[in-house]
Amino acid sequence: MTKISDRLNNLAESATLKMAALSRELKNEGKDVIALSLGEPDFETPYHIREAAKAAIDAGHNKYTPVNGLVELRKAISNKFKRDNGLDYSHEQIVVSTGAKQSLANVINALVNPGDEVIVASPFWVSYAAQVQLAEGKLVELHAGIDKDFKVTPEMLESAITDKTKVFLYSSPCNPTGAVYSKDELEALANVIAKHERIFVLADEIYEHINFIGGHESIGQFENIKDRVITVNGLSKGFAMTGWRLGYIGAPLEVAKACTKMQGQITSGTSVITQMAAITALGDNLERTFQMREAFLRRRNLVLDLLGKIPGLKVNVPEGAFYVFPDASAFFGTSTGDTTINNVDDLTMYLLQDCHVAVVTGSAFGNPNCFRISYAAADEVLVEAVDRIKQSLAKLQPVPVA
Ligand code: PMP
Ligand code: GLU
Repeated sequence: MTKISDRLNNLAESATLKMAALSRELKNEGKDVIALSLGEPDFETPYHIREAAKAAIDAGHNKYTPVNGLVELRKAISNKFKRDNGLDYSHEQIVVSTGAKQSLANVINALVNPGDEVIVASPFWVSYAAQVQLAEGKLVELHAGIDKDFKVTPEMLESAITDKTKVFLYSSPCNPTGAVYSKDELEALANVIAKHERIFVLADEIYEHINFIGGHESIGQFENIKDRVITVNGLSKGFAMTGWRLGYIGAPLEVAKACTKMQGQITSGTSVITQMAAITALGDNLERTFQMREAFLRRRNLVLDLLGKIPGLKVNVPEGAFYVFPDASAFFGTSTGDTTINNVDDLTMYLLQDCHVAVVTGSAFGNPNCFRISYAAADEVLVEAVDRIKQSLAKLQPVPVA
């Protein structure tokens, strides 16, 4: 009999991390794997941020920080929210954590009682579902397909709200679809939330800087709901700092305090060196961040152009992040003769085995028709990967009906 708790036994492994581990294994066996599974910038952390970390070490920063983060950093975050997003969070309303992943877990645990409903815009990032499950909440998925550019409408939101709804959770730019909500679209969603006083909005803005439509919009800017919005952000994506582990929230004071209490019992917060470097990262020098965004845009266009030439794949135009989310349902019910593709899980495993390209199944993100390609890789790698995908898909023929 297993010794592991039911809570953990019933929890799914992160599909993104699982696929990354699987492709690492194949690589270690000597296979020529192209891993487009993990959402991780392939750039170096900007030089001035690395220098700030080195200076922090040399200056002898080696102690625990306050659980919610260094005051100086929280003031820098408060300024950043004001400067970039028009949001008013004082430094007491900021909590710095070990990545946006922990920030989200803190908030979900701070707000969700067993049985409370969390409405999530679907497709959604894998860990939302697991975190809601751990808090014993109920995930209510609002499905928006490729025909809607993967964006939920105010009507959909309104019709999903019940007296058990506690949180509305979404990401923009979205992982896994790259969808970006415009100011008008967010305002319309805010107007729905405004009618329901007990609902909080959890806005995951970690891809803020990877936006191709000229400007990021935050739902917390709207007066009618601003006291109920928790804004999540972090350094991983816009500053190529996934391994440094720093995320943060701006939140109503009571929620921020609860998150600090949670964190005080779980991690005590993130590394002091990372926090010192973050003060520099969140300053005014965003030049490298903007250069990375330009590179992502070029790669998006490259990948879209190449995918558009593959018969059977349906692709929309993502407006941010570094993912494309093609609909591959035309390949369900096909076979190579040896391998049959019944669903998108079969398809992603087939691509990994047949052409050694690792992508992530859409079923992990709440959409069983699509798969996610992360295009955070060099242009020539992307060209080779999409060519391999094309050749593998071309081997799939409809299974004759018996
Ligand atoms: N939110 C989204 C939408 C993400 O894609 C990620 C990816 N890592 C995270 C949160 C967590 O980021 P991190 O913990 O690296 O800050
Ligand atoms: N957020 C990234 C992704 O979706 C990193 C992996 C993870 O943290 O799950 O691939």
